[in-house]
Amino acid sequence: MSEDLYRGAPDPEDLLERLERFVNPGRARIYRLLGMNSIEWRGAGSIVHDSTGKEFVDLCAGYAVMNAGHRHPKIVGALADCLGRMGLSTKTMLSAGEVDVAERLAGLLPGDLQMSFFSATGAEANELAMKLARVTTGRNNFVAATKGYHGMTMGCLSATAKGSYRDAFGPLLEGVVHVPFDDLHALENAVGDDTAAVILEPIQGEAGAVVPGEDYLSGVREICDRTGALLILDEVQTGMGRTGRNFACEHWNVVPDIITLAKGLGGGVFPVAATAAKPHVFEIFDENPYVHATTTGGNPLAMAAALAALDVMVEEDFASQARVKGEFVLRRLEALREQYPEVIADVRGRGLLTGIGFTNASGGLMVLSELFERGVLVIPSLMDWTVMRIPPPLNIDMEILERGMGILDDVMADLAPTIRELV
Ligand code: PLP
Repeated sequence: MSEDLYRGAPDPEDLLERLERFVNPGRARIYRLLGMNSIEWRGAGSIVHDSTGKEFVDLCAGYAVMNAGHRHPKIVGALADCLGRMGLSTKTMLSAGEVDVAERLAGLLPGDLQMSFFSATGAEANELAMKLARVTTGRNNFVAATKGYHGMTMGCLSATAKGSYRDAFGPLLEGVVHVPFDDLHALENAVGDDTAAVILEPIQGEAGAVVPGEDYLSGVREICDRTGALLILDEVQTGMGRTGRNFACEHWNVVPDIITLAKGLGGGVFPVAATAAKPHVFEIFDENPYVHATTTGGNPLAMAAALAALDVMVEEDFASQARVKGEFVLRRLEALREQYPEVIADVRGRGLLTGIGFTNASGGLMVLSELFERGVLVIPSLMDWTVMRIPPPLNIDMEILERGMGILDDVMADLAPTIRELV
């Protein structure tokens, strides 16, 4: 191990203490409780080293962000090239990047999702989607799904259905109704002539990789068409090849009126989000070009990263990689479920968005913490803590993926007897 690579790294205990004092005491407590006190220091591909040189297999990709792995050379190269000539935007001159990425996206997205607005976060992308739905339809209300996650800003939080995230901040937007996911009957009853849009994840991510039935999304599209509500598909997590198609809506040949992207769109090196829509949904910008704006959205650096990320997604056929490797992961998880039925309730997912449903939340967190100790990164599900998720980089080497899954086998063998006692 070269000492130089780790020079300047802070002491983890000192960092935790400062995290507690200056950033977020609760998070410091959780890191301590789960024994997760390693500092991320170097990442390449699907491997991360902490500040002491300990190696981690990354099976979570920063909550499904590093679809291309850490610091993909082509994406880093594009960013570095751009930084060599331009940082953020003047906002007064023409900027080539945003037009290039919008045109590229229009070519890749299904149907006539032709126009794009760029921002930095998934929440911003959804916030605009909701605003556009209101102005396009002249209606106020939204229908969203139970356990859906759309971000933490006021509008998005209104669509995000978890009390513990919402309760402290009310009142939120009026007129947002939540219905069970994958229940067309409930959706049909909730959508009315005052519904501006139905907003859904095609596969729920933070709910724990919940895949709907085959007819669900086309049924939702039909209800929206019949009632004049727009369909907003939040593909912040499911987009960019993650579920085995470039965009998850393609599994069911459904074209939404508005699609939102983030996470993988920045190639794992820069925050980039997009709200893409059919041309008529963007008509408001014709009347008032600055009716919605953000100072840094669509900046040259972000767009250099996004254009390279889209190229890499296509060149390396991330969708196929996710399909093949996702089947491998699900097979291994299914074997674990058969081996430990009192501990693992179910396994689910599509492509490389996969999850293990534990019979109790403590079991999932124990496994997550022990995996961390043994050098494997996985994540919980924000909307359902009983589900531990495995959304690795899509271009992860099979050998590394097998190593990570092998360590999961070992951890389950060691912890299953204890977790069984907790049930
Ligand atoms: N929508 C979905 C489906 C997400 O999974 C997330 C984040 O996990 C968001 C929106 C919010 O994105 P951000 O955290 O970038 O605001």
